[in-house]
Amino acid sequence: MSIAAEHIDALKAILGPGGWKQDADDLAPFLSEWRDRWSGKTPLLALPGSTRQTAQLVRYCARHKIAITPQGGNTGLVGAQIPQGEILLSTARLCQIRALNTDNATLTLDAGVTLADARAAAQNAGFIFPLSLASEGSATIGGILSTNAGGMEVLRYGTARDLALGLEVITPQGDVLSALKGLRKDNTGYDLKQLYIGAEGSLGVITGAVLKLFPIPPIRLSAWCALDTVQEAIALLDFLRQHYGDALCKFELMADICICTALRNIPQTRAPLGTPSPWHVLLDFGFFNAPKGEDALETVLEDAMKKGLISDAVIAQSDTQAQDFLKLRETLSAAQKGEGLAIKHDISVPLSAIADFPRKATKAAEQFAPNCRVFAFGHVGDGNLHFNILQPVQMSQEAFAKRAPQITAAIYDCVHALGGSISAEHGIGIMKKTELAAQKGDVQMGLMRAIKIALDPDNIMNPRVLF
Ligand SMILES: Cc1cc2nc3c(=O)[nH]c(=O)nc-3n(C[C@H](O)[C@H](O)[C@H](O)COP(=O)(O)OP(=O)(O)OC[C@H]3O[C@@H](n4cnc5c(N)ncnc54)[C@H](O)[C@@H]3O)c2cc1C
Repeated sequence: MSIAAEHIDALKAILGPGGWKQDADDLAPFLSEWRDRWSGKTPLLALPGSTRQTAQLVRYCARHKIAITPQGGNTGLVGAQIPQGEILLSTARLCQIRALNTDNATLTLDAGVTLADARAAAQNAGFIFPLSLASEGSATIGGILSTNAGGMEVLRYGTARDLALGLEVITPQGDVLSALKGLRKDNTGYDLKQLYIGAEGSLGVITGAVLKLFPIPPIRLSAWCALDTVQEAIALLDFLRQHYGDALCKFELMADICICTALRNIPQTRAPLGTPSPWHVLLDFGFFNAPKGEDALETVLEDAMKKGLISDAVIAQSDTQAQDFLKLRETLSAAQKGEGLAIKHDISVPLSAIADFPRKATKAAEQFAPNCRVFAFGHVGDGNLHFNILQPVQMSQEAFAKRAPQITAAIYDCVHALGGSISAEHGIGIMKKTELAAQKGDVQMGLMRAIKIALDPDNIMNPRVLF
């Protein structure tokens, strides 16, 4: 795709000085991504400074059928934000907090505000915005909504979709859809914002949002548990929810290989428990009243041990210790990097099937890579596992890479058989397009295509993703 010089000049004029970049050094960080899997090209990096300017830019592109790739913080993991010749529209300059309404418990902000800044703004006003990701220093509100990001507290607060009350979107025609009322109830026909959430920039550019805020639970308690099986983890989850309801915020399952790898590869990490164990769970609770007596966490975990749900446990004795537990969990993605090639799968299955999944999927992967190392961890309270297959020690990277498509297909077959999803987080992007069509089937793909064609008939919005 090539875009005529006259169009580039016209777009620069719309954006004004400071609103665009073309120099190769300036563009470089926007054209490669975190895992170095995709690199891109663009004739112009557009950095609109307002909703109005974004709309003008899109309107010009619509008139001349010029394709656009929207980009937020460039932390996406499926290649969707990396252009291949389209105009790259970055929201980096759309970074104002517009309003924080304490009575309505809402935060209205530009789409380019980072998740960390949104969380800090909420915190400063005595609230939490509960979505939290390891990438939150760069990931933006527009990006988390466009990927329907999850993170560790979905168990209690839901995904980005559950946390958005309103959106402002530039349609592919360049119109401004302004739906920023911040209502919790609004039954006036189609809930249009839901279309754009999880759309990966394929239906429009999000320029603003109203997010739900929550009161801060004053008492945080964290614990680390050792257990033998995933089945026990699911039973423990049920047991803890029976006791504490939605005070349970995080329930993160990790296979022992993940912990051993993190301890080996990441400086200043420490094992929470002295003894090795096949599986580990990080628990984190947010209480409004300290649990006492038979509800005290020590007592409940002792009970869990008597019932054979866990073999050992430690409760964090300080904020620092709680942070150490969390750090260990958060370093797992980085910890794999020193272990050769990893074939990654971010899947979900119903909770009732999650105990079966690691066993079945490991067997499936081993057909193609005997002795592969299964690096499984994730937000198991949501049925979500990062099921990563590490290169067997005896196999060359090249030989392992050649088998990647078969390994992934075998694992996705298990996901499908258990009624799960091939993308629990991160989206489809460029990476999982083929698998999406296979998973969704003709009816769902047909409806998705119909929506895309109705809203973006000239296919100018992120034209290479999803389909
Ligand atoms: C270390 C690390 C940890 C992560 N942990 C998690 C996790 O726990 N859970 C999780 O869900 N994800 C996680 N991610 C993935 C990533 O951070 C999320 O997908 C995040 O939501 C992307 O936000 P972003 O602003 O960087 O978007 P980008 O990467 O810039 O873009 C992602 C997609 O959104 C579109 N987009 C971006 N902004 C807009 C906009 N304003 N309007 C329309 N479309 C737009 C892009 O076109 C692209 O399709 C992680 C990533 C890293 C690197």
